[in-house]
Amino acid sequence: MTNDPSRTGKRWIRPLPERLINKIAAGEVIERPAAVLKELAENSFDAGATRIDVIVEKSGSKLISVIDNGCGISVEQVEVAFSRHATSKISDFDDLENLRSFGFRGEALPSIGSVAKVRMVTRTADADAGTEIVIEGGVVQNVKPAAAPVGTKIEVSDLFFNTPARRKFLRAESTESRHLTRNAMALALSEPKVAFSYRMNGRRVFALDEGYSDLRSRIKKLLLSHNDDRLIKIEADTDIMNVAGFLSYPDRARQNQYGLFIFINNRYIKSQTMVHAVTAGYGEMLPRGNYPVGAIFLNIDPARVDVNVHPTKAEVRLSEERQVHDVLYHAVKRSVHQTSGVNAPGITMETMAPPQTISRSEAIHRAREFEPPHQTEASQTILKKLYGHEDVMPVTSDERYDPEISKISGAGGSVPEAPLTADDIEFGRIVYLGSLADLYLIFKSGDHVFIIDQHTAHERVLYEEHLKAIDSGGTASQNLLFPINIELSPDRFVLYEESNDFLKKAGFVVEPFGNLTVILSAVPAALSRKSPEKMFSAVLEDIENLRKAGQNLKKAVVQSVACRGAVMAGDRLTEQEALTLLKRLLMADNRHSCPHGRPTILKITKDELDVKFKRK
Ligand code: ADP
Ligand code: MG
Repeated sequence: MTNDPSRTGKRWIRPLPERLINKIAAGEVIERPAAVLKELAENSFDAGATRIDVIVEKSGSKLISVIDNGCGISVEQVEVAFSRHATSKISDFDDLENLRSFGFRGEALPSIGSVAKVRMVTRTADADAGTEIVIEGGVVQNVKPAAAPVGTKIEVSDLFFNTPARRKFLRAESTESRHLTRNAMALALSEPKVAFSYRMNGRRVFALDEGYSDLRSRIKKLLLSHNDDRLIKIEADTDIMNVAGFLSYPDRARQNQYGLFIFINNRYIKSQTMVHAVTAGYGEMLPRGNYPVGAIFLNIDPARVDVNVHPTKAEVRLSEERQVHDVLYHAVKRSVHQTSGVNAPGITMETMAPPQTISRSEAIHRAREFEPPHQTEASQTILKKLYGHEDVMPVTSDERYDPEISKISGAGGSVPEAPLTADDIEFGRIVYLGSLADLYLIFKSGDHVFIIDQHTAHERVLYEEHLKAIDSGGTASQNLLFPINIELSPDRFVLYEESNDFLKKAGFVVEPFGNLTVILSAVPAALSRKSPEKMFSAVLEDIENLRKAGQNLKKAVVQSVACRGAVMAGDRLTEQEALTLLKRLLMADNRHSCPHGRPTILKITKDELDVKFKRK
């Protein structure tokens, strides 16, 4: 006979041991290193700290340390703090309705303690000495008095050391550091009065103390460049909420949402609905797919906000989401339109328009034309959710091509079976007829007409040439007459460090120059016609986006350089240039499409024209 309940058929329902519960909870609360940072720093804010220092090593898998000068924990409470659902912040349900603190679930410390090695040294103001506690995998190893300043220092090392599956699941180091840095920025923005520093792998990423104790200067420091302090102030006060914050001018927009921070009752949250409200507020001033940088604080009666939706508290439920969306939308719209110079000339579409999806002339055209903003798929869903219908039909990328031409050329504009070769140009078998709209180059070969898109074709050519050059050592660069110092935002700096090997091979010569500044002394020859500083930032931004879309680092760098270096729609080419471009395209491995998948070349045969003209 055995006593094993599963064998005897008797199923004992027993409470799980606390250590196991904590480990399970850790799976929810502590998704990744960035979540540890957030929980710890929020505890420091809740403890009334006026300064917080964060240290991260090896994207958090080796060390995450948070040091504060807050109220500390008394000796008799230290162990309690690490036990489940122990919190000093709420005691009954009403408190939950009026929540103003970050923490309240009492889950963070026990969860972290159960999946890492934690050492905490803490001291309250009225105690002579501090207390040190060491916890490993949920087991208290040691509690003893320790000399310490008032406040709390916590070191979390070897995160997930006892949950190998989770440790393995940590994404690439670069992904985790990006999340960490973004959380550090959000935390620093959420409480400008609290001095905040952030170090990663021994280097200071940012330190915000004197001179950075207001939101405006923090946004400037973290999200704008040193020589640009233009910000649009956003304000609104209604029955249901209060809005405050700053957003960038449209020319500072990025092609991703990483620079846009939204807070509800000081808590950094992720909400596509609110992002939509912000971008929609800019109207046609913001090309689609662009997002301003900045920080918006929504103050809403805590009774109307449920933060207890998800253990990480990054999602919130609003009882009047639609009204909140509308108030924010109108606030942004009003402020943007009242701010002088927002739409001043000098905004170059080149920096704003995403060249990988639309051409410059198209962007200019769209920006001039009135159209309801932001018809991305995500915002469609949101519009539908909020209003029960979509305002506008999505414009799919396919609609950019003349459907008629695609139809008559059979396989969606594919290239002939007996393909043209570069030799056809050498031997004069191809005649350049001219260009249409400074974008489409038209050639004749025998009875066929070939049309190439000068931008996508050039992109394809540069892409392949650069990829080959990188694999065989490097690309030609063009030295700058005067090297330029460029100050990067913390997240961009981290990205630069990761990509530097490939940037170098692609022809950029950039070296770190103290703090978050880099010195740029050469650019890829293909980019030498344009402003080097702008090009460098644009390339970093592209890499960020392409990485997000799953592209590997090497290809992301090359793709960006190719796209940025390619002739644009609107550039006028000479006959010689047009023929050279076609020749290089014909020598490419893939002549049919650009690296983003848009067609480069299209053929129309005489037969197809005969059909069109009803001769057949
Ligand atoms: P919660 O923040 O939800 O209350 P935690 O597990 O994060 O739960 O923390 C448990 C308790 O430990 C807190 O309620 C607080 O009393 C105490 N505590 C945690 N971190 C700090 C800190 N940095 N300074 C002072 N007290 C802290
Ligand atoms: Mg907490």
